Amino acid sequence: AKSKGRDTYRFFNEEMNYEATEQLNIRVGLRKALELNQFQLFYQPQLEMTTGKIVGVEALIRWFHPELGMVSPASFIPVAEASGLIVPIGNWVLQEACREAARWRDSGMSNPVVAVNLSALQFARGNIEQAVSDAVASAGITPQMLELELTESIMLHNTESVLATVKRLKQKGFAFTIDDFGTGYSSLQYLKSFAVDKLKIDQSFVRDITEDEDDAAIVRAIVQVAKGLGLKTIAEGVETAEAMALLAQYRCDEVQGYYLGRPMPARQFMAYLQQYGEC
Ligand code: C2E
Ligand code: CA
Ligand code: CA
Ligand code: CA
Repeated sequence: AKSKGRDTYRFFNEEMNYEATEQLNIRVGLRKALELNQFQLFYQPQLEMTTGKIVGVEALIRWFHPELGMVSPASFIPVAEASGLIVPIGNWVLQEACREAARWRDSGMSNPVVAVNLSALQFARGNIEQAVSDAVASAGITPQMLELELTESIMLHNTESVLATVKRLKQKGFAFTIDDFGTGYSSLQYLKSFAVDKLKIDQSFVRDITEDEDDAAIVRAIVQVAKGLGLKTIAEGVETAEAMALLAQYRCDEVQGYYLGRPMPARQFMAYLQQYGEC
């Protein structure tokens, strides 16, 4: 038993060591990743239920590290946020997503909309208004072609100033979605004060929607609340035809998930659109 205990201890130790090393690699590597062009945006389609058309796309960042391979944003975005690097990285994401949207429009899509994820620090320190305006201006697209996804955690701090910024950007024509809706705090309170356009129902409620009656009830309730407030809904994490059918029955406006398509490189997304039908 004693030796087993020691083995377990050593195992944990090595595991922790490995994780610490990886964290360090991420922190060090992240600083150079922008200038070394190691980031790429992947795009995941969003489908409108009533028309069956692809009406938008979410841009999701990928990091291709020479030794670590593809690093998931779930492991490097928190590091980027803690170090402040999320501000320049976030600006690059905005620029790149807008450039891509311009390409889609130029290739004949009538109404391409790209959704970009924002972090709290971009509001606190990043001059987000300037960054967003610069991105659309230099890409030559309209604000209507860019959608901004906020998590409830962004609104938790400096609520007043975030609220004012959102209001000004909305006046310029940018649309806002609350991401991961239902997982944060005081969701309903925020809905009252934040004039957003869309709620993205968190995938934790969507995943088992066909099996779990509670999840189904929550999703149905969110759609109803949104409708009452004049907001659109999009469900993320839609993996099956059955889930999609149920969401259609609940009158959820849009869906996004592996069932329709995984996040993919821009070139592949072009081909996807040609096959599936355009924006
Ligand atoms: P998110 O914004 O909630 O993005 C949705 C995540 O769910 C993505 O993971 C996407 O690949 C994944 N997903 C989409 N459909 C399905 C599905 O049907 N089933 C399952 N199981 N998963 C699905 P990803 O790309 O790994 O991104 C993770 C998170 O990293 C994002 O969560 C977002 O919070 C953050 N992130 C990604 N790109 C950016 C970015 O450019 N800026 C910022 N600030 N955060 C980003
Ligand atoms: Ca998102
Ligand atoms: Ca989400
Ligand atoms: Ca999330």
